[in-house]
Amino acid sequence: MKIAILPGDGIGTEIIAQAVRVLGVLDLHFETEQALVGGAAYEAHGHPLPEATLSLAKAADAVLFGAVGDWKFDKLERSLRPEQAILGLRKHLGLFANFRPAICYEQLTHASSLKPELVAGLDILIIRELTGDIYFGQPRGRRVSPDGAFAGAEEAFDTMRYSRPEIERIAHVAFQAARKRSKRLTSVDKANVLETFQFWKDIVTEVHAGYPDVELDHMYVDNAAMQLVKAPKKFDVVVTGNMFGDILSDEAAMLTGSIGMLPSASLDAAGKGLYEPSHGSAPDIAGKNLANPLATILSLAMMLRFSLQQPEAAARVEAAVQYVLASGLRTADIWSEGTTRVGTIEMGDAVVKALAGGSTAVGTKTTIIKS
Ligand code: NAD
Repeated sequence: MKIAILPGDGIGTEIIAQAVRVLGVLDLHFETEQALVGGAAYEAHGHPLPEATLSLAKAADAVLFGAVGDWKFDKLERSLRPEQAILGLRKHLGLFANFRPAICYEQLTHASSLKPELVAGLDILIIRELTGDIYFGQPRGRRVSPDGAFAGAEEAFDTMRYSRPEIERIAHVAFQAARKRSKRLTSVDKANVLETFQFWKDIVTEVHAGYPDVELDHMYVDNAAMQLVKAPKKFDVVVTGNMFGDILSDEAAMLTGSIGMLPSASLDAAGKGLYEPSHGSAPDIAGKNLANPLATILSLAMMLRFSLQQPEAAARVEAAVQYVLASGLRTADIWSEGTTRVGTIEMGDAVVKALAGGSTAVGTKTTIIKS
């Protein structure tokens, strides 16, 4: 099997380097090939997602992605900005299901902005539809307003839309994931105001008929945003559209303390996936050996489990991460009094060493997402 490795920009190259080292000590025989993406690809080839990079991603069985973006590209026209690479990969690879676990590790409860008792043991999964909704809906643009109170004024508009097949397929993915966890699914919508999300709610309810063993509830997105900070442990699996999922998954990420700890997977209908940390390229800390590589290493574990059928190797990587945390090592983003502060490379060293030494974590809790 072949893995495409796309480090990208900023801390992307630093964190991917550590994940590649981890892959190297697992003693599995995968072919790997690296390519430029994002701002690095734009600078070398004039496009953030060059044809060669896209072809490699399409041909591979899985893609390990770092992060893209830098403020210096903000003035480029939109189609050439680094972030377009990730949108292009999602679209061309048909990656419609985004899995974002939010797990609060026992050792990091203090790093959350919420009280420890609210987040201790938190283990929720947000499933975000990734290729539809207002982010991709047409038409969109700027124009002179044709009607309404501000007719004649300049305006901008986007289109929110979802088709039945798009909602059905993400609903099936979510019910199946819920089945493998606690059999509880919350569908988040805004059915009280938006036609698109009344449709969403109706179809999720229809699909539920095929999963009578899963308990389904519906929640408006504004309430979901409140409940996530009030009683996050009441959720288990959450499914929602592209925009609401974008916002809620970042909110959930912060409950866990640091975005530097959170992996993600974006899957197509056949289980092929793109795996990346939930954070961006962090230009503010790039090149300083400060980035936390654990989200990327945990993304590698998700890749081993979902796309490469190596659940044991995935569990070993997750156990090694827990072992390293239990041993008190912390990058700056998760450091606290009494723990040992290390850099990106030293954190990678520790995970590699734990794996080579066969270490297992105390009290490891494996999140079953999809096998
Ligand atoms: P960001 O996630 O890059 O950074 C937000 C904050 O979190 C920063 O303070 C950063 O230092 C910190 N941080 C992020 N990852 C960390 C890690 N692994 N370890 C320690 N600290 C970490 O978000 P941003 O600052 O809004 O965006 C920076 C760039 O990244 C922008 O160009 C943006 O478009 C891009 N971006 C890319 C992706 C992606 O590639 N999928 C996602 C989000 C943002």
